[in-house]
Amino acid sequence: MRMSSRITRAPIASKLPHVGTTIFTVMSRLAQECGAINLSQGFPDFPIDEKLSQLVDAAMRSGHNQYAPMAGLPALREAIADKVQRLYGFRYDPDTEITVASGGTQAIFTAIGAVVHPGDEVIIVDPAYDCYSPTVELFGGKPVHVRLGNDMKFDADAVQRAITPRTRMLMINTPHNPAGTILRDADMKRIAELLRGTDIILLSDEVYEHLVFDGEPHASVINHPELRERAFVIFSFGKVFHTTGWKMGYALAPKTLMAEFRKVHQFNVFSVHTPTQHAMAAYMQEPSNYGTVAAFYQAKRDRFAAGMKDSRFRLLPCEGSYFQTADYSAISSEDDMAFAQRVTREFGVATIPLSPFYKDPPKGQRLLRFCFAKQDATLDAAIEKLCRI
Ligand code: GLN
Repeated sequence: MRMSSRITRAPIASKLPHVGTTIFTVMSRLAQECGAINLSQGFPDFPIDEKLSQLVDAAMRSGHNQYAPMAGLPALREAIADKVQRLYGFRYDPDTEITVASGGTQAIFTAIGAVVHPGDEVIIVDPAYDCYSPTVELFGGKPVHVRLGNDMKFDADAVQRAITPRTRMLMINTPHNPAGTILRDADMKRIAELLRGTDIILLSDEVYEHLVFDGEPHASVINHPELRERAFVIFSFGKVFHTTGWKMGYALAPKTLMAEFRKVHQFNVFSVHTPTQHAMAAYMQEPSNYGTVAAFYQAKRDRFAAGMKDSRFRLLPCEGSYFQTADYSAISSEDDMAFAQRVTREFGVATIPLSPFYKDPPKGQRLLRFCFAKQDATLDAAIEKLCRI
C-alpha cells in the first residue's frame, strides 16, 4: 500500500501577505447569511433588457460559440470606436487601439502587468478601488498612496508631491468608486500639467462613465490629447447595461501601449465570451441603450437621499457612480468594519465600510458606502430599516 506523501516543504510564501478576501465578497456573503438587503457589492437587482438577452441567445443559436479573435470581435471593436467617437470626439483604431476584456478589473490588471516593472512607483489615490494596490504589488511595483482631498475631491497637489523619477503610472478613477465624486475638466487640465515632460503612464478607470448626474458631462481623459496619448482608459459593459455578471469591458490605449497590453492579455484571457460580444456589438449601436442610464440612476440616487433624510446618517455629495457614501458619526463610534457588520446582522442592511479602500484609513472616519442600483422597492425597504438605526 502506498503511504500518502507528507509535505515537508515550508509553507508557500504569500505574494500578497496583507491581502484577504475582498470586502465585496465578505459583505455579500454576510448579507446572504443574515437574509439582509444587500446594498454592499455594486450590482443591480433588476432584470436586464429582454432585447439584450435575445441577442445573446440568437448569437449562440446561430453558431457563434467558438473563440473570438484575441483582441475582441471586429464588429464590437468597431462599435466601441463609433461610440467613443460620438461621445468624446476621438476615434481609436479598432485594429490596434481597442481590446475587449473580461471586465474592468481584468483590464486594469492587464494594463498594470503590461507596463509596471519591479521597483516602479504607481500613484494611487485613496480611497481607491480595492484591486489597484495588490495588482501593482503582484507585478513588483510600489504603490504610492495619496489621498483625495476635502469632500472626497481630487487633490492635484497631493499627487504632485508624490511624483518622483521612479513614478511609472498614475491611476485615476472618475466617477469615483467608492466616493461617488467626479473629476472635472479643470482636474484633467491640472493632471496634464503634472504629467507634462514626464514618461508617466496614466491609467484612467472610467467604468462609470455613463453614471454622471445633474447634467454634468463625463470628463474623460479621451477629451485631452495630451492625456490620452499616455493613457489606458478602462470601460465596463456591466455598469452601463446592468450586466455585471457578464464580466465584460474594454481597454483603449495608443497603439504602442495597446501592443504591450495585448501581449499580456493573450496569455491571461486570450479572448472573451463570443456570443456576448456579438450581442453587445448590435446592442450598443443604439445610443438610447446607454444615453438614458444617467437619468435612471439619478432618480434612484434622489429617492435614496430623500428617504435617508429621516435617518441619522449624513449623506456626502454623490456626483456619479451608483454609490452613495454616508457618515454615521451621529449614530456610533464603532469602526466602520464593526459597524457595517452590526448593521447587517441587527438591522438587515448590508453596506460597504470605506476603510478597506485605504492603505491607512483616516482615524475617526466613519463612512459607509450604499449601492443604490436597486429596484425602488428594495431601496424603500432598506431606507425603512436604516431609519430605525
Ligand atoms: N465593482 C463592485 C463594487 O464596487 C464590486 C465588484 C466585485 O465584487 N469584484 O461593489
